[in-house]
Amino acid sequence: MSRLIVISNRVSAPTADKPGAQGGLAVALSAALREADGVWFGWSGETGETGEPNFQTFDGVTSATIDLPEQDVEEYYDGYANRTLWPLFHYRLGLTEFEREFQGGYERVNRLFGDVIAPHIQSDDLIWVHDYHLIPLGWMLRQQGLTNRLGFFLHIPWPPTRLLTALPEHRRLVDALFAYDVVGFQTREWLETFHDYVVREMGGSIGEDDLVTVGGRTIRVIACPIGIDADEFIANATSEQAQAAYTRMVESSIGRSLIIGVDRLDYSKGLEERFNGYQRYLETRPDAHANVYLLQIAPPSRATVESYQIIRAQLDSLSGRINGAFADVDWVPLRYVNQSYPRAALAGIYRAARIGLVTPLRDGMNLVAKEFVAAQDPEDPGVLILSRFAGAAEQLDSALLINPYSPDDIADAIDKALAMSREERVARWRPMFENVRDESVIWWRRCFTDSLMRV
Ligand code: UDP
Repeated sequence: MSRLIVISNRVSAPTADKPGAQGGLAVALSAALREADGVWFGWSGETGETGEPNFQTFDGVTSATIDLPEQDVEEYYDGYANRTLWPLFHYRLGLTEFEREFQGGYERVNRLFGDVIAPHIQSDDLIWVHDYHLIPLGWMLRQQGLTNRLGFFLHIPWPPTRLLTALPEHRRLVDALFAYDVVGFQTREWLETFHDYVVREMGGSIGEDDLVTVGGRTIRVIACPIGIDADEFIANATSEQAQAAYTRMVESSIGRSLIIGVDRLDYSKGLEERFNGYQRYLETRPDAHANVYLLQIAPPSRATVESYQIIRAQLDSLSGRINGAFADVDWVPLRYVNQSYPRAALAGIYRAARIGLVTPLRDGMNLVAKEFVAAQDPEDPGVLILSRFAGAAEQLDSALLINPYSPDDIADAIDKALAMSREERVARWRPMFENVRDESVIWWRRCFTDSLMRV
């Protein structure tokens, strides 16, 4: 059997210092690595001179991490990954920074990854590279003479051709993808936008059986939506920690309907638009005051990047304005919380909520939407309000799908969700639950690796 080599910016396999599994992706990939005697390579998160990878085996999974020089972290990670590719791929041209040094740092670190990892690869290893940080890595590994089966999965959206061409080195970036044998996207939509680029910008062609050809090179390009560890999450929802969180929510709600939002504090998540939509709801339905409240959990992320400092300040002021304008002596309409909670606690909070409000302006998938569905009480489920621009909307199409740019759309959906009969709630929830359960993170991993093994 071939070994599996996973390469991503950060490694989230459990280690001796962090023994807990860190999310569905970690669970799915760790299980695969354990079975296939594999290695998970990535950046340690530390700055320093890059030496040989630090190999560690814990619970049957081997991880190998390297440190990166400070300048590389600034240009590759804070720079090209988080200030250039992330905003551009989330359709935010106005927030995208174009700096030649960022691009230089990005290529340098990808080359460094290639140089450090290549000597540890055996000839029949299956190599799976993850996400926008490492697009050129496959090409770098080929430069090292590797002829292994190489796959790449993009966890974020693929942007429309006319946006992508604003990136000075767009063609170079996409050319590098053709060093892989299999490229995976989250949804049909991103797959089609990729096809569009290939045809328009590269003169390539789209064939049968997911094949894409440019010049003399043919690769397989597929859509495999990532899922959650459904079994774990369903078990989570009835765990002691979830039960405690559930009780705490029910007691503090004193009969009011809870609307829940959970997101990393990121401009792609549509938090301002969500607050505006909720404000519209409060303005237009004064009779509903004191019967509902919105709990928004938003742990800060990427705080060194200016656009994140700006969105944080905007949300601080908007949440203050909403509470100032609408609160009463015994009611606060918006609880806005900047800390992070363990997934088991979130499961209990989701279960106590009447509405899950998920309104990203663009999102590769959105796992919170899936976790919300998995955590519901089958007899009395809450309603998912979901942005049509989240990748998850392709699968969770019996949610109340909304346009997050429209405050009226959000306000109307809240109204509709609160009035919805139990019968309709169950009828909408059941197919979503079945999807979340069947198309889990394990299913996703197989979807991709089966395709890679066929090469
Ligand atoms: N999450 C968490 N604690 C928090 C907030 C979020 O564990 O306080 C988890 C959440 O349960 C989900 C993940 O972070 O599994 C977020 O994934 P998603 O795909 O929704 O968004 P991303 O942050 O990857 O853009």
